[in-house]
Amino acid sequence: MTNYSPQGPYKFFLRRDMSLEKMMLTNYPRLRKDFKKLEKKVGSNGKWKGVQIKKKHLEWLLARGEDRAPKMLCPYCGEEPVEHFLAIYTFGGKYFTIKESFLFCKKDSCKKKASPEIDSRHEVVATLPVKFSSIDKFSSKRDRRKVISLLRKSFNLQGRPTTEDLFSFFSN
Ligand SMILES: [Zn+2]
Repeated sequence: MTNYSPQGPYKFFLRRDMSLEKMMLTNYPRLRKDFKKLEKKVGSNGKWKGVQIKKKHLEWLLARGEDRAPKMLCPYCGEEPVEHFLAIYTFGGKYFTIKESFLFCKKDSCKKKASPEIDSRHEVVATLPVKFSSIDKFSSKRDRRKVISLLRKSFNLQGRPTTEDLFSFFSN
């Protein structure tokens, strides 16, 4: 990890209302792809300063999406913050079932309470961390939106956070 610590959000030159910070909620998979592209393009000592800054900012932002502390308390014990969620897939179906009652904390007893009865012949359950990278585990937009909605609840990012709100969330 670099020791880069930005002074402010990364806003787009031509679209001042859009920022990398906002894209964490609106187009996370695109950010991951862009970062990979930039890594290839500039390596560690690329020449273009603007590209270097974007790459550094993205690297920083993606890492911050992995180490945020959830604020929402576990719906089962009400003592510990939520840490994971379940996603259930029914074979042959198009989408996953992902909902608020599938969030739980670090305790096994709470995971049990969050886990519905499933028919293992027809269904599989995935357990994922409350981290932004979990968005990327789903290929459909609809499932990604459900994950984002859980992340927003978990991190108390509901409503319409501005670029500045999000920057402060990711930098603190
Ligand atoms: Zn709990």
